Amino acid sequence: VLGLAACGGEGAGDTGGDESAAPGGGGEEDLMVGVAMPTQTSERWIADGESVQAGLEEAGYTVDLQFANDDIPTQSQQIDQMITNGADALVIAAIDGTALSSQLDAAAAADIPVIAYDRLIRDSEHVDFYVTFDNYNVGVQQATSLLVGLGILDQDGGETGEEGPFKIELFAGSLDDNNAHFFWQGAMDTLQPYLDSGVLEVPSGQMDIEQAATLRWQQETAQKRMEDLLTSSYGGGSEELHGVLSPYDGLSRGIITALQNAGYGTTIEDGLPVVTGQDAEIASVKLIADGVQFATIFKDTRKLADQAVISVESYLQGQEAEANDTESYDNGVKVVPSYLLESDIVYQDTIEPLLVESGYWTAEEVESGV
Ligand code: BGC
Repeated sequence: VLGLAACGGEGAGDTGGDESAAPGGGGEEDLMVGVAMPTQTSERWIADGESVQAGLEEAGYTVDLQFANDDIPTQSQQIDQMITNGADALVIAAIDGTALSSQLDAAAAADIPVIAYDRLIRDSEHVDFYVTFDNYNVGVQQATSLLVGLGILDQDGGETGEEGPFKIELFAGSLDDNNAHFFWQGAMDTLQPYLDSGVLEVPSGQMDIEQAATLRWQQETAQKRMEDLLTSSYGGGSEELHGVLSPYDGLSRGIITALQNAGYGTTIEDGLPVVTGQDAEIASVKLIADGVQFATIFKDTRKLADQAVISVESYLQGQEAEANDTESYDNGVKVVPSYLLESDIVYQDTIEPLLVESGYWTAEEVESGV
């Protein structure tokens, strides 16, 4: 269903005790890696979890994969349990990046390397490594796609001379997720010149991340805020709104529902404002194909999972993982060495080359939206 068959490879899940001795030099089958993912409500985390698990199992490790229903105590308990069960390494995509200090203290005391996955774990010196995307650039790409949708930039990034003014609203992610701040910063740095020159206006005046934030990245919360904004600043939907910056496809779908219900049209062509996104979730990719959502950001989670596996292997072989960035991610206590991957903007006409040709989604999945 997830279109990620390629990353599982042959015999994923088949740790085959005797065969696994060959590639890694032996011994791995005795090692256990705990993988803590935030939730199964968003398909990316399911895919991430399964890809990391498959990669680690192929390398000969035993994997304990857990999802935490976006509940902080559940995730803390799962990690405590992994440590108690003798995990040799931990890969963690935190729900609240500031809530895991005591787990990381325990991991450090037991000499367990900790790799922060996608989201930085803050306020602890015991984060050994961070694998993620260039999150600031994801925000730049989100704002860029909004500017393209409004006709201010062309798809190659060139100014069209379009002066607006365009009315937009801004959404941010969950404030306890370090990434949300990077996405916002990248987006706002990109939009600011147009806000300053009056090409863009935010009628609600809600331009601080605290006002724009969406706790736990929940779709219903974004839909509700969009409804409230329409009531307070757009005469319930009778006044013009041209675009909405949304940092995640789930939020985008909630926002689109609110806009459609308020009568803005069902597609962009018939008046629906331009809405951005992130993650290339299949439901949103279909909406883009159908001209409903304008764009999303594709982060190839298969590549992120591969990087996580490579990093785990390095630590378990007694080496440091190889970073390609040693300045961007200060977690409040130290700068965490990181491996950053690149992302791409997906527009209607780049679904095929970016998502279908790479095998991330099949043409049938894009067609059906599941
Ligand atoms: C991830 C995004 C995702 C969001 C909501 C962020 O930390 O980087 O890819 O859209 O969480 O799950």
